[in-house]
Amino acid sequence: MNGLNIRKLTRFQKYVILGGGVAAGYAALEFVRRNGGASSQELCIISDEHTRRVYRHFILALVLRMSYLPKNGIVLVLGTRVISADVRQKTLLTSSGETISYKTLIVATGARAVKLEEFGVSGSDARNVCYLRNVEDADKLVGVMRSCPGGNAVVVGGGYIGMECAAALVTNNIKVTMVFPEKHCMGRLFTPKIAEFYESYYASRGVTFVKEAAVTSMQISAGKVTAVNLGNGRRLPADMVVVGVGARANTGLFDGQLVMENGGIKVNGRMQASDASVYAVGDVAAFPVKLFGGDVRRLEHVDCARRTARHAVAAMLEGTGSVGHIDYLPFFYSRVFSLSWQFYGDNAGEAVHFGDLAPPGDGDGAAPKFGAYWVRDGRVAGAFLEGGSRQEYEAVAAAVRRGAAVADVAELERRGLAFATQA
Ligand code: NAD
Repeated sequence: MNGLNIRKLTRFQKYVILGGGVAAGYAALEFVRRNGGASSQELCIISDEHTRRVYRHFILALVLRMSYLPKNGIVLVLGTRVISADVRQKTLLTSSGETISYKTLIVATGARAVKLEEFGVSGSDARNVCYLRNVEDADKLVGVMRSCPGGNAVVVGGGYIGMECAAALVTNNIKVTMVFPEKHCMGRLFTPKIAEFYESYYASRGVTFVKEAAVTSMQISAGKVTAVNLGNGRRLPADMVVVGVGARANTGLFDGQLVMENGGIKVNGRMQASDASVYAVGDVAAFPVKLFGGDVRRLEHVDCARRTARHAVAAMLEGTGSVGHIDYLPFFYSRVFSLSWQFYGDNAGEAVHFGDLAPPGDGDGAAPKFGAYWVRDGRVAGAFLEGGSRQEYEAVAAAVRRGAAVADVAELERRGLAFATQA
C-alpha cells in the first residue's frame, strides 16, 4: 500500500488506551475484569512498543495473551506511534497514516528520561552511555556492563536510578563513582540523616560519591565515552556511564488541548482530563491527592501507575458519579543490596527520626532498622521505614493514612516505630 491509500484508513474504537507500559497494562486488565466478554473489540491499545518487547513486559504480555481470547477481543495496534491527537474531534493519527477515532481515550504515555544534552553536555548517543526506561535500555546496560568487567562506571544522578544502578553495578564488580549536584543522595525524599546512612552503606560496598558536582562534558573516542569531566576540574575515567537525571511526562500530543499541571495532564479525582472524553493515568497524570487536601501531584511510581489506571477504568465504565474520587496514599519503595525501604505520604513538615541510623560497621550482624516520620500541623504526614516487616510497613502506612495526631514530638521520637505499631 502506498502512503495515500493508508491515509484514507479510519476506524472507530470505543475505548482507546494510548501507551504500552505498566499503566496501560493495568488499565487493560481492569477493563477485561470489569467488561470481560461483554463487548468484543471495544478496546484498542496503541503502543509504539513492538510485540517482542511487549511479550517481555509481564502485564502487557498478559494482556496480549488475553487479546487472543475472542471474548476479550482487545484490538492491539503495536509498533505504531501516534503522531498527533485531536481532542475535539476525538481522533488519533498514527505513524502509519491511520486515523483512529474514539469515544473515550486513556492516555498512558508515561515519561521519558531527561537527557544530559538538556544540561549542555553532549554524548548521550555514545555506545557506553546508558539511560534506563525500557527493556532495550536495560539490555544495553547489561551488555555494556558485561563488556567491561572490573571497569569504571560513572553514575550521573543521585536519585532512584542512580542509587539502584550503582548498587547493581558494584555487586557486579564494576567500580562506581556517583556524581550529582545536591548535598546528598535522593534529595527529593531523604533527609540528610537518612541519606548519610545510605551513602555510608554504599561507601562500605565500594561506591565513591562526588557530591555538589556537575558533569560539564564527556570525552569520547571511537563512539565511546572514555572520561567524564566535572565542573570542579576533575576528570573521572569511564568505561561506562549510567545517567539518571530525572524524567519528563510525555504530554506533547496534548499540549494546548488539555489543561496541564506539574508537567503532566491535569485530571480530576476520576482521572478525567479537562476534556471529559480523555482520562490520564500513571506518570503522565497530575491528580488531586485527597490526603494532601486535594493538592495536585504527579507521582512517578509503579504503584501509582497501577492504581490510577484501575481507577480511571472503573470511573470510565461505571459512569458519572458511581465511582468516587481516587483516594491514593502516595507510596514509594526501593530495594538495594540487602536493604529495603518504603515511604508513605508526604515528606513535608518536621522530620522526626527513630531507630539506629548509625552507619553500618564492618561485618555488622543485625539488619538495619530505622525510619522517620514527617509531622505537619500536629499530625503524621509521611513515614519512611528501612528494614521493616510487612506488619510494620502496614502500621506506618496506617499512621500516615489516618494522619495520626502527634501531641509531643519528643515523645514520638522516643516511641519511634512503636508509635505506629502499638497505636
Ligand atoms: P530522580 O528524580 O529520582 O532523580 C534525579 C536525580 O538527578 C536527582 O537526584 C539529582 O541528583 C540528579 N540530577 C539532576 N540534574 C543533574 C545534573 N545536571 N547532573 C547530575 N545529576 C543531576 O530521577 P531518576 O533517578 O532519573 O529516575 C527517573 C524516574 O524513574 C523517576 O520517575 C523515578 O521515580 C523512577 N524510578 C523509580 C524507582 C523506584 O521507585 N524504586 C526506581 C527507578 C526509577
